[in-house]
Amino acid sequence: MKILVTGGAGFIGSHLVAKLLSLGHDVAVIDNFHPYYPAERKKRQFRALTGGNLPVYHIDLLDGEKTEELFCRYQPDCVYHLAALPGVPNSLLQPLDYVDYDIKATINVLKAAGMAGVRHVLFASSSSVYGNQGNVPLKEEMAAGQVVSPYAAAKYGAESFCYAYAHLFGYQVTIFRYFTVYGPWGRPDMAISKFIRHLLRGEEIVVYGTGTARDYTFVDDVVSGMVAALGRGGGNDVFNLGSGRPIAMERLLQELKAHFPTMKVKHAPERKGDVKATWADITKAQRAFGYKPSITFEVGLARTIAWARTYET
Ligand code: NAD
Repeated sequence: MKILVTGGAGFIGSHLVAKLLSLGHDVAVIDNFHPYYPAERKKRQFRALTGGNLPVYHIDLLDGEKTEELFCRYQPDCVYHLAALPGVPNSLLQPLDYVDYDIKATINVLKAAGMAGVRHVLFASSSSVYGNQGNVPLKEEMAAGQVVSPYAAAKYGAESFCYAYAHLFGYQVTIFRYFTVYGPWGRPDMAISKFIRHLLRGEEIVVYGTGTARDYTFVDDVVSGMVAALGRGGGNDVFNLGSGRPIAMERLLQELKAHFPTMKVKHAPERKGDVKATWADITKAQRAFGYKPSITFEVGLARTIAWARTYET
């Protein structure tokens, strides 16, 4: 298949592109190497994971004309739309950027996909759209817009635009809600990446709030779900891609301590905008396309630390 991946030089995008290439697909990437974290790191992760031997278009999806021109020229069968400005804390500081990068850019992609005759658009959303619902397994129908950050509001809005444009153009849309994805080349602003980086330098780590349980998902599991959904039947729909096994902060700290016995932890007040707990009910994705995360938290964390010892020091 001919597949276009937006945000393909990012953390999840680079892993996805590598998998799609290994399956023999014809893949191209759009990425503007946004400075949310250094472009140099994105280039490194993209080269390391994919080999870099494929077209990469440095286009900002906020440029609707260029986006549409490229889509019509490349004529993809499917589009994975991962490009976005991520990060809950940053969205409290720069909310309007999230309207641009997470909503307006998504509309440009959805329109361009329609103009280019794309058959299937697969969109990267987030568990943050569930807001604060306590420590319960989150089912897809429980998202009702009661979010607690501008990032989540933008993702929830973008999901609605996906349905609208799928209806207008007649392509299929699949929405994935990811749950705190981690692994080698993990996004440097995310907790597990930050903890490991600090611990490797012998620095203390900071835990915000009481640190309730969270559904951490190893990146290979997320990617296998995204790839399995490519040929799914059925109409437009949304699926949780979590691990289905929440990990308490205490447990995460214990696991880290096993790797870094001299670890020091500082506790700080809860941050506004963070959801208190996440726990994915993954039954729907299991039934629809056989999604089955297989990497245990111990194994995933050990692989991430082994990677960081080589690349983050
Ligand atoms: P990332 O920042 O590593 O990747 C996003 C990529 O999109 C970057 O390479 C960036 O340069 C690119 N990009 C941003 N705006 C663009 C634009 N206007 N035009 C072209 N390229 C642009 O983030 P990630 O962690 O790999 O996340 C991928 C997607 O998954 C995002 O949509 C994110 O919101 C979503 N998500 C991630 C997680 C997670 O745990 N990592 C959780 C929930 C949702």
